[in-house]
Amino acid sequence: MSMEDLYKQFPDVHPNIVLKTEVLRQGLRISDRAQQEFNRRDDILWRGFHVFSYDSDRPKMYKDKIPMGFHLSDGCPVQIRTNANSPYLLDFVDGHFLLSENGEIMAQGIYFDPKPKWYDMKFENGIPLPVIVQGFSGEYMFITINRYCELWNTGDQCLFCDINAFFKAQMSWEEEDIVARLEPNTLAEALKIAIEVDPRYRLAVVITGGTILGKYRGQTELDFYCSRLNAIREKLQVWIPSTFQIDPQDDEGWKKLRETGIGSVQPNIEVWDRDLFGWICPGKSKLIGRDEWIKRTLRAVDFWGRGLVQPNFVIGVEMAQPHGFKDVSAAVKSTAEGWDFLMRHGVLPRYNQWTIESGSAFARQQRPPLEYFIEVQKAYTELRWKYKFDPPFPSTFSRSAYLLCCLQDFEYYHGTGILSKKKQDEMFAAGRKPAGEA
Ligand code: SF4
Repeated sequence: MSMEDLYKQFPDVHPNIVLKTEVLRQGLRISDRAQQEFNRRDDILWRGFHVFSYDSDRPKMYKDKIPMGFHLSDGCPVQIRTNANSPYLLDFVDGHFLLSENGEIMAQGIYFDPKPKWYDMKFENGIPLPVIVQGFSGEYMFITINRYCELWNTGDQCLFCDINAFFKAQMSWEEEDIVARLEPNTLAEALKIAIEVDPRYRLAVVITGGTILGKYRGQTELDFYCSRLNAIREKLQVWIPSTFQIDPQDDEGWKKLRETGIGSVQPNIEVWDRDLFGWICPGKSKLIGRDEWIKRTLRAVDFWGRGLVQPNFVIGVEMAQPHGFKDVSAAVKSTAEGWDFLMRHGVLPRYNQWTIESGSAFARQQRPPLEYFIEVQKAYTELRWKYKFDPPFPSTFSRSAYLLCCLQDFEYYHGTGILSKKKQDEMFAAGRKPAGEA
């Protein structure tokens, strides 16, 4: 089916949402001409040093010079996920980048985010700053404090995840500077420098890391992460907007984390259905358990407030086989029920669109149909409106912030809130009217 046919299949959804969702679903190929142009340039935010690969075949490294993402001509941000078998091609023709399928142009006027100014800086010990702080989309920063998740030690990693496999690949394929676990001072110093040298990326910082089961250099997981967050707070004096991904804690743990000053937390649930949670997230299931995970997530609202607890869902994994849903509407219903429950209790879930990564246990799965991704995102949007959670919120500070799914795009193209196109057009129009005119 061509992209034009797909637009017709979803007439009530903006075409850019259909295009973006489909390109995220299938990934894309990069033509030789486009790659030659990338090789010539040094002004783009490249992929590399990030936490997951998002690639269906060989994970791409910094030296591969593949952009982190691109923008459609109206600004819509799209992550680049490479897949040698994708029908979609990122090409460079007559001095311009475009997207095509079988020679038919799907999108023109494509442009890229700028390379952050700290990307060419190094510490005296030789560690490049982008190893510690990465640019993400065009406006915010991303830090992986701990690239090694110990759930992999016992084969209990989440089945969609490639964190340790990607880390290994980075170690052996060129990104030899990569650091597994960041020390507090190095981390805080790097973030401070990044904020100072490139204001374009200081809108927010997302901080994440894998699970620590026992102790690392005498520290429990909670102590490990709190010591790093406290180092940042002491270095910056004032936090920029921030969000931190960690397993849900008991009350004492939440209190300790709250005292670091971190602005919001994301105890990622990943998949709602009880049985599928046990199958897809075996480590989370054994370590904490689904009921306790959800209970602690709700409790976190008492510490951070409504809308500031944002667990992630990897949309699509509930259709993985052989145990997942086979029917789109059943999959959407299950996930939407979970979101409804969480929003009713002040938790604002977020989601990323699943990509099949070669280093994950789900490497050989089939992609869920486009219809699933469109319908589940529509369901999310309607629930978000029903419970009156209007962006900006920690995972969606701006339109550019969300390139891994269409969470913000549904708001921009179909919403009426402050970050919607409708509202922004009205405000621009009001600003242009001559003084005195109502
Ligand atoms: S907890 Fe799961 S998703 Fe997170 S890093 Fe570990 S295996 Fe990956």
